[in-house]
Amino acid sequence: MDQKGVLAVISGFSGAGKGTLVKGLLNAYPQQYALSISATTRAPRVGEEHGREYFFVSKERFEQMIAGDALIEYASYVGNYYGTPKGYVAEQMGAGKDVILEIEVQGALKVKERFPEALLVFVTPPDAPELEKRLRGRGTETEEAIRSRLKTAAGEAVFMDRYDYILVNGQLNACIQELHSLIQTQHRQARLNRGLIEKMSRGLSGIAQ
Ligand code: 5GP
Repeated sequence: MDQKGVLAVISGFSGAGKGTLVKGLLNAYPQQYALSISATTRAPRVGEEHGREYFFVSKERFEQMIAGDALIEYASYVGNYYGTPKGYVAEQMGAGKDVILEIEVQGALKVKERFPEALLVFVTPPDAPELEKRLRGRGTETEEAIRSRLKTAAGEAVFMDRYDYILVNGQLNACIQELHSLIQTQHRQARLNRGLIEKMSRGLSGIAQ
């Protein structure tokens, strides 16, 4: 994959506020970032639109995308498939944009395996009671779904140490700035490294003649 832009993977417990954080980042720096839109087999929630929050597809269509190698990664989460389509991510990174994937843990770890230079950030509220409070406060889920998401969160916590950074989501604007600065540090470092590697390779091939 062309690496002019950074691939930044944002995960976090359901209800951790990562959606709001990512939206805030994109609104603050629209020229810098592109948000990848995932495909999913889950049903749209009230107010969600095809092609905006997700590409809502059937299980058959999703399985065709897997078979056609059209996804960077995919995972099954609370009974549905979720996956990142390849084309848009490659195109935006090639254009020098930093691409944000807002995805769950299994998918994030697959991305890191495939692209070790990807930046993995895990967003969490300060403690578990706060997470439960935020999840209930959303008011869009049934009790059963909330229970299931809390159980999933407990399983996800095990993988927090595989991330490059853990970001505690307290004050929103401070958190946006912190995320921006993490990604931009990686962006600058990757550019510097590319330049140095090219220079050293050229220099060495001259000396080694
Ligand atoms: P929700 O149903 O609440 O929109 O999303 C459930 C979980 O799936 C969230 O943790 C979200 O970040 C994750 N998710 C969304 N898109 C993708 C994707 O393309 N791949 C993976 N692996 N997870 C995703």
